[in-house]
Amino acid sequence: MFSIKTSKGPVSFTRFVGPFINGKFQPSLAATPSRKPLLNPCTEELLENVEEAGPEDVDAAVKSAQAALKGPWKSFTGRKRRNVLLDIAQAVERNIWNLTVLEAACGKPLEEAKFDIEEVVECFRYFAGHADKLHGQNFATEDNHKSYTVRKPVGVCGLITSFNYPLVLAAWKIAPALACGNAIILKPAPQTPLSSLMLGELIAKYTDLPHGVFNVLPGGEAVGSAIVNHKDIHKCSFTGSGGVGRKVMAGAAQSNLKKVTLELGGKSPLIVFADADLDQAVEDVFGAIFSNMGQNCCAGSRLFLEKGIETDFLKKLKARVEEVKIGDTLDEAYNFGTMVDRVQFERVLNFIERAKKDGDSELLVGGKRHGDKGYFIEPTIFHNVKETAMIATEEVFGPVLSVMKPFSSLEEVLERANATPYGLASGVWTKDLTKAEHCVQELEAGVTWINCYNLCSSHLPFGGVKASGFGKDLGAEALDEYTTIKAVTIRV
Ligand code: NAD
Repeated sequence: MFSIKTSKGPVSFTRFVGPFINGKFQPSLAATPSRKPLLNPCTEELLENVEEAGPEDVDAAVKSAQAALKGPWKSFTGRKRRNVLLDIAQAVERNIWNLTVLEAACGKPLEEAKFDIEEVVECFRYFAGHADKLHGQNFATEDNHKSYTVRKPVGVCGLITSFNYPLVLAAWKIAPALACGNAIILKPAPQTPLSSLMLGELIAKYTDLPHGVFNVLPGGEAVGSAIVNHKDIHKCSFTGSGGVGRKVMAGAAQSNLKKVTLELGGKSPLIVFADADLDQAVEDVFGAIFSNMGQNCCAGSRLFLEKGIETDFLKKLKARVEEVKIGDTLDEAYNFGTMVDRVQFERVLNFIERAKKDGDSELLVGGKRHGDKGYFIEPTIFHNVKETAMIATEEVFGPVLSVMKPFSSLEEVLERANATPYGLASGVWTKDLTKAEHCVQELEAGVTWINCYNLCSSHLPFGGVKASGFGKDLGAEALDEYTTIKAVTIRV
């Protein structure tokens, strides 16, 4: 057992011994297994050691997944798969506090962590509803032919996730993959493997999912790369940075041309028009950039304000920032946590220090480490940011907002907002629906939120365009990612 202290008392967990393969935890098969010490980023103290998987474990997991696909899982009807997904949702719901604590122990405030696990439950329930409704299409009869399509599972799917929403991102991929009848090898991020490992434990204990259908391999680049390059894995769904995303695509092409989904980073624009409800917009902009301490793929990191509202808006936004309570994320008294680890902490501080020196912007608030222990960084706003500044062009992935120079016209701001290689999310605040609709049409992004931000829901497809990737998590569209479509023609 290991235990985590929270403001509501200690919480105990079973020790996860190595990867979860074929329905059980087992020591890694790697020639030289490595044990990664996970630190609590608030205290820099040891949380738990995790034995990481190696390429040998990927082979073992693929074999167990293939056996399940040929064996018991193949005979599961849509209704039975639906029931398994509902059982997973229930198991997660009944263990919501423990899963919340595991994620809060990685630097995310308890309240945000709890919200995330609730979303996980919703996601499994949503895709349970699809499991017994997978269907193809019928085509008009041509002479004496009848044609239709059927959906088939892709097979063994490698799911690779990033650290910022550990179980949410995993659920976004696991739930549709299982609904469609696939087998899974999940590789969580090396900084945050614990909630994914606990999901393995819950699935084994509380559901009828056949052994081998769901495997979890903790580890980093070596195991990720072994998944991407494996010839018997036919789908890779990846969430992470653009640099690694490009390696995933190259590996998929060189190994077996596996099907790929890429959910990558962003540099999302927020546009506030003078006619907007400014108090609401301040609150939304605050959440858009500072939720999860800016470690959010959708983070609205470039703010465009219409000329004339800057002074008032920034005064209110600064006051809102000064309300945050930075501190131990396992204590409910605090609502602003840390960077996930020292690497991210130093990376973000480096962006801030360079911005302070390069003269491309002015610091409005924040701009330094909070305290002298833990990876806390103050919510930071730079304003009057030049279009070419590093903090305006690169994904910081931390609590840093670039307030760009004010805009004077709709066409001008749309051109400036789209001047980025990325295209994940965007936000617009205005009471003028014609203007809002024009923005919806013109913004190059997979998501546009109007008078709100960051509202994701299982029934809505999520994913980017341009360098933010392709393919969709969530929504009925996610079913296309985990099925192949066979066309059938019968002479009648
Ligand atoms: P990362 O790219 O460093 O790592 C992501 C995952 O890839 C991790 O599990 C990592 O171990 C694995 N990995 C590393 N090298 C690999 C390789 N060669 N082959 C296969 N897998 C490999 O990203 P990160 O730092 O964990 O996450 C931050 C990034 O993720 C940001 O760019 C963020 O915008 C993006 N992100 C995107 C979305 C989205 O839905 N679009 C959601 C969350 C995060």
